[in-house]
Amino acid sequence: MSLAKEFVNSLNWHKTLFDDSQDRCYCTKCYPIPWDDVISTGNANYVIPRGWTRLGLRVDPMLVDAYDIWNKWIVTFHGTTKTAALSILIHRHFYLPGDKLIDGTTLGIRDGHIPNKKFIFTSPTIAYSSSTIYAPNNDFYSSTNNTLYEAQLVLQCRQQPDSFKIQGETIRAGSKRICPFIPNEQIEYYTDIRSSIIAYGLLVRFREKRR
Ligand SMILES: [Zn+2]
Repeated sequence: MSLAKEFVNSLNWHKTLFDDSQDRCYCTKCYPIPWDDVISTGNANYVIPRGWTRLGLRVDPMLVDAYDIWNKWIVTFHGTTKTAALSILIHRHFYLPGDKLIDGTTLGIRDGHIPNKKFIFTSPTIAYSSSTIYAPNNDFYSSTNNTLYEAQLVLQCRQQPDSFKIQGETIRAGSKRICPFIPNEQIEYYTDIRSSIIAYGLLVRFREKRR
């Protein structure tokens, strides 16, 4: 957790975006191996993001009251870049391709997706969302550890049931199984309803960078 906090401090994002009470670490010490890999919520399964650390995000109380999102909405993941993540958190909703991010750049459509079809993509497993196609590595030097890391960002989300479609992987995995729990054929969700997805956690993972 301390490395995750150091990383997030280095981003200089507004402190008010975060909610410490929702912080959660999924390392093997904090979330032991025998514990469940797959959790059911809102009548759908999602895979525990083992090896990641979650920094809790503030969620609009209106959404909690109006939609009972903690009980009725499912859990999904959305891998993204630093700029797109901050844009989503500041604007309080997800972006569709063609929208302008906070730095003025336009959100594009990833390779592998159908050109000119504008959707937001999520997954019930972080094994998919953490593909570097979605969540590129960011260099991060920890002065506490004197170590250079590659850090990845994935948003943990609540998503409205029955508001999206399910499709197979689009990252050219071929016959390689991406997640032991979710088949490749059902690994990607897509929707064009921006307000059907709410980010409630910023998940980060670090790997020591080889030089
Ligand atoms: Zn831990």
